[in-house]
Amino acid sequence: MKTIGVLTSGGDAPGMNAAIRSVARTGLQYGMKVLGVMRGYNGLINGDMIELNMRSVSDIINRGGTMLYTARCKEFKDMAGVQKAKETCLKAGIEGLVVIGGDGSFRGAGDLSSIGIPCVGIPGTIDNDIACTDYTIGYDTAMNTAMDMVDRIRDTAQSHDRCSVVEVMGRNAGYIALNTGIAVGASYILVPEIKPDIDAVIEKIEKSRALGKKHFIVVVAEGIGHAKEIAQEIEEKTGIESRETILGHVQRGGNPTVTDRVVASQMGYHAVELLHQGIGNRVVAQKDGKIVDYDIQEALKMKKELPMELYKVAHDISF
Ligand code: ADP
Repeated sequence: MKTIGVLTSGGDAPGMNAAIRSVARTGLQYGMKVLGVMRGYNGLINGDMIELNMRSVSDIINRGGTMLYTARCKEFKDMAGVQKAKETCLKAGIEGLVVIGGDGSFRGAGDLSSIGIPCVGIPGTIDNDIACTDYTIGYDTAMNTAMDMVDRIRDTAQSHDRCSVVEVMGRNAGYIALNTGIAVGASYILVPEIKPDIDAVIEKIEKSRALGKKHFIVVVAEGIGHAKEIAQEIEEKTGIESRETILGHVQRGGNPTVTDRVVASQMGYHAVELLHQGIGNRVVAQKDGKIVDYDIQEALKMKKELPMELYKVAHDISF
């Protein structure tokens, strides 16, 4: 391949820049022309792209967000939009495309691959909710940020003998909630994979209170929501003053951690190696510590489970 494109699509995640840098530098090393496509699939439909050289991806490995911007593109969900994108690719000479994003973005990459533009997906989302991979770019940074924020909330919860109900992101998955919950020593963690049981939360708080605990943290996943109502119910039933905090987009920003920079660099490299061999319609993934790749359609059909043994550990040691 002589020319490849790279874009970021869907929600942004820290480490996407490190992936862009890796894609660009690997492609350039192979003598390819590398085009950075702006604002996800929008840039592919309207031809908004910039040529990347070795220096245009300097000083971004340490930065959150994405230098190519990201967006959701409704038009690309129809084959007419995908066809337009193909025409832009043909005009710009793009023979292969790296798509950094989530499942929605991979569906689009599958569609574009099916009409002759080989695409390779790289999992980029803080939620870790992509089934084919053990790890998604941005996940570690988001968890560390959430942990940091809850540590701060703990200081004030402790000073006031309060219960803090903290909602963390994760869409419909409980990965961020589970790991952050363990890391902050939460009294209880509510995740969408397990039916919420507020009575169990209250029972746990009462048990710890009987053992002398005076301040409490309950971590609630975004997929459960209702942090305010949960805090109110805890206050009504226990008499402990309770407050809710929704962390929100703070979890999406910030400098990526070492894990996110390293995995992003590895995945970007692997994606371009595939395109260099003329292989498309693949998603790059991390499986048991190794970088692998799967057929896009097969990857989209995969399922992954929240590690229940970790959930048990979290609750067995919180008192
Ligand atoms: P994520 O990639 O993080 O899951 P979205 O689901 O919002 O985020 O998808 C990002 C973009 O991918 C969408 O705005 C759209 O352009 C494209 N996309 C999503 N679903 C499809 C689909 N079924 N077919 C084609 N393109 C899609």
